[in-house]
Amino acid sequence: MPQPYDRVFNFSAGPSTLPVSVLEEARDGLLNYQGTGMGVMEMSHRSKPFEAIIQKAEADLRTLMGIPEGYRVLFLQGGASLQFSMVPLSFLGEGQTADYVVTGAWGKKGVEAARLVGCVNVAWDGKGENYRDVPAPEALRLSPNTAYVHTTSNETIQGVQFAGDPSFESPLVCDMSSDILSRPVDVSRYALIYAGAQKNMGPAGATIVIIRDDFLARAPQNVHPILDYRVHADNDSLYNTPSSWSIYVCGLVYQHLLDNEGLEGARARNEAKAKALYDAIDGSEGFYRGHAEPRARSKMNVTFTLPNEDLTKSFVKEAEANGMDGLKGHRSVGGVRASIYNAFPQEGCEALASFMKDFAARNG
Ligand code: PMP
Repeated sequence: MPQPYDRVFNFSAGPSTLPVSVLEEARDGLLNYQGTGMGVMEMSHRSKPFEAIIQKAEADLRTLMGIPEGYRVLFLQGGASLQFSMVPLSFLGEGQTADYVVTGAWGKKGVEAARLVGCVNVAWDGKGENYRDVPAPEALRLSPNTAYVHTTSNETIQGVQFAGDPSFESPLVCDMSSDILSRPVDVSRYALIYAGAQKNMGPAGATIVIIRDDFLARAPQNVHPILDYRVHADNDSLYNTPSSWSIYVCGLVYQHLLDNEGLEGARARNEAKAKALYDAIDGSEGFYRGHAEPRARSKMNVTFTLPNEDLTKSFVKEAEANGMDGLKGHRSVGGVRASIYNAFPQEGCEALASFMKDFAARNG
């Protein structure tokens, strides 16, 4: 079935597909935002219209995620990668240790940055089995009096996801870049959540940070201002010129989610989409092999391999010819990765599942 504007099914891991209705609204905001005579990209970040945009985006995100009182919401830049450094620079003090739970490539990057700052204890590492699983709580080797525990809720490359919100006595810091807003979360379990916008929220540019006041209060005074959470919080995310276009489109996405049964609605849609693909893997009599252990299967990035490299290449090529783009897996895992974030449609998953069945029948 042809897609609106001749769009393909875009399985990209990020930046990734956005809701068409949001893009249509953004198109208007690009040229003349609500009769201001200028587009959002062109207006001062200190202007009244932009102030209203960022305030509404924050309020809607608070409603969507149920962010309790006592948390600050920040719209920063630098991607999740900058958070890999900002977190330890503020919260891994001298003589302290931070615990990192490494379930994939991004968690590993977090460790590498934190090690430049201070003492890191890797409390669990899935590397030995090429990151196929998440740990049971009893498998973690946590250090006493840890400064914080760092997790990655969804590992985008390996397609490994925690089933829910883990619980720790120490402050929990979580990289939610690739599954934020895909399901409800209990924000009160976390001291700090961060996520780049470019998968479930909007265009690349903004990085969302949700930080609990008591954790924020631990930040030292001698951090460079641009890297200092307190400076950003004191300036309502307007310490320097923010990623205004990205924030605007994120706001449209928040509104879109609120209009579509919030995060419960998103969860139901995402589970149905992922099921279509995992059923195709499991029903293929071993032709396709899922990378992740079933209990750790991601609802956002479905990773699987084919019997050999030649078949993988023809799969990706044929899929592309059939309007399914971006399926090549990351080189560290090989095979195929289908990224099916919030805005990816159910019919795209059905189309891929039926292509998988057909391809296996012809090549199995
Ligand atoms: N963490 C996760 C889980 C990611 O998926 C990514 C990007 N794919 C990053 C961190 C890095 O994000 P950025 O490119 O925005 O710095």
